[in-house]
Amino acid sequence: MSEENIRIQDDLYEAVNGEWLKTAVIPDDRPTTGGFSDLDQDVEKIMMADFAAFAKGEKTTDIPEMKYAISLYKKVLDTERRNREGITPALGFLEKIKSVKTPEDLNDIAAYFTVNDINLPIQLSVQPDMENAEKHSVIVLGPDIILPDTTYYADDNPAGKQLLAVYSDMAAKVLSFTQLSGGEQKKYLEDTLAFDALVAAKVKSQVEWSEYYKCHNPMSVDEVASYVAPFDIKKLLADLYGDKAPDTIIVYDPKAIKEMSGYYSAENFEMYIHWAYVKALIGSTACLSEELASLGRTYRKVLTGVAADPAIEKQAYRVASMTYSEPVGVYYGRTYFGEEAKKDVVDMVKKIIETYKLRVRKNTFLAQSTKEEAVKKLSAIEIKMGYPDSVKEFWSTLVFDEGDSYFEAMQKLSAIRNKEGISRLLKPVDRTEWVMPGHMVNACYNPSSNDITFPAAILQKPFYSLKQSVSENLGGIGAVIGHEISHAFDNNGANFDEHGNLKNWWTEEDFAAFKELTKGMIEQFDGIEFHGGKVNGELVVSENIADNGGMGVTLEIMHTLEKPDFQAYFKNWARVWCMKAKEEYIQLLLASDVHSPAVLRANMSPRNFSEWYDAFDVTKNDKMYIAPEKRISIW
Ligand SMILES: [Zn+2]
Repeated sequence: MSEENIRIQDDLYEAVNGEWLKTAVIPDDRPTTGGFSDLDQDVEKIMMADFAAFAKGEKTTDIPEMKYAISLYKKVLDTERRNREGITPALGFLEKIKSVKTPEDLNDIAAYFTVNDINLPIQLSVQPDMENAEKHSVIVLGPDIILPDTTYYADDNPAGKQLLAVYSDMAAKVLSFTQLSGGEQKKYLEDTLAFDALVAAKVKSQVEWSEYYKCHNPMSVDEVASYVAPFDIKKLLADLYGDKAPDTIIVYDPKAIKEMSGYYSAENFEMYIHWAYVKALIGSTACLSEELASLGRTYRKVLTGVAADPAIEKQAYRVASMTYSEPVGVYYGRTYFGEEAKKDVVDMVKKIIETYKLRVRKNTFLAQSTKEEAVKKLSAIEIKMGYPDSVKEFWSTLVFDEGDSYFEAMQKLSAIRNKEGISRLLKPVDRTEWVMPGHMVNACYNPSSNDITFPAAILQKPFYSLKQSVSENLGGIGAVIGHEISHAFDNNGANFDEHGNLKNWWTEEDFAAFKELTKGMIEQFDGIEFHGGKVNGELVVSENIADNGGMGVTLEIMHTLEKPDFQAYFKNWARVWCMKAKEEYIQLLLASDVHSPAVLRANMSPRNFSEWYDAFDVTKNDKMYIAPEKRISIW
């Protein structure tokens, strides 16, 4: 296929991005380039220069918590010390796991495991309660698995076997740095893989996880205790909460918990503890010597097709900016995000919400009462734009000692974070909290708080610019804003009310009609051939509903403009999704990501709208045509 002959009517994505795709090179240390990834690289470049200047004392900031981020940055860069100490900083920690010989030992030390990120037979955390978004609940789920999804464990999945071999090889090499004997190392590794295989047969698949409203399964602690024995969850909760321990918890993955006795029992205990040891060991490598850190990244690199480790300065910036995400995000926002742009985008969001209400009212499949509920939900959406006004107090408690090794510092920090997370159970949900920091190139809708977050870093070209036309901005950030709002009404969000509580606000017939439309959206994508695999329509349905909703509402606004440029709108929409990725990464996303491949996001949604056909005179002879009766419009 020669690029010159590609007509926009046949392939919008290729026609707009073809030239770029021909020459773009994916950096060695990243799985993708283009679109989101380009912006992310730009942000990283500016911020790395700032961090280097901070570290040298050439630059200062008035955000107090930034000094910890800079100090951590320097610890990552102190490779002389890291390489000299090797695995030593982690030995005491690993010995503690090894010393656990019986379920009774584990029950005694389970609170320590919880605080220090060592895998228990169950995962426990504190989250806003889905039924009452003002309070928190303790939630439990099964253990993590090594491969990206349960489907990788199928006998006929060659990728799964290859990846497990890579993981085994990496784990064997890392184990050789420990004080375990050769025989022990072998046994630890065998047990790790055996325990992982047992777990993989029980836990939810990515498709099951994608329906997250189904995670809300309250159960009495007594009932959960009966499934997970000999692990004593009642003792753990008492150790963590004393007389304030809850008697009901939320089970996110009931099958994993109910069938637990089959894989976690006194007989399997050694297998479990060896698995926990190896997981903790590999998790630790990132903060040890450069050799260990690089070894510990092997599996992830193969999984994503990344060839090289990032430069050490990049690693240091990434660790510091992730660990101190809020202060770093506030610094980025205050330094690089203009008030004029903020006001402009907030106005755009408000306009999109108002237009969404109009569309809901015009909607033909909903009864009046359901429409009123939907409008109520739209009116209650809160907007978090750019970055928070201030850094929350918690971040000033996230400290370590000057003399700490990188490993010790990270241990202390994760313990502080975990303890804070645990303590949330006894506090109301803080709705002013931001789930994404200002320097992140992304956006999101949070169903539990019915709010949308647009970090400063995404508010750039091609998504948004004061210098772009209104039509282009609507096809870029406008459609993304509409997308996030649509998550309030996708197959998950539709189950939550305006306060973020899991509650049915639909009439029975309306919900049935909505389900039917959802089915149409699943079918539109299901089975599309892509890079030797097939799109799983169920896995990606919520994001596709959101893409179509975002396009619908922004096209509606286009009609109100004095001089709408629909061609510019669709071209910028395609520009936003331009992406080149390593083949391994494409396969990983296809199997586990709830978003459709970028090229399909660019090319599928337009076909559902008459504006696409009008803008480029698309007819049934063109590849990007679908018959009117097959077009899907939900919102
Ligand atoms: Zn989304």
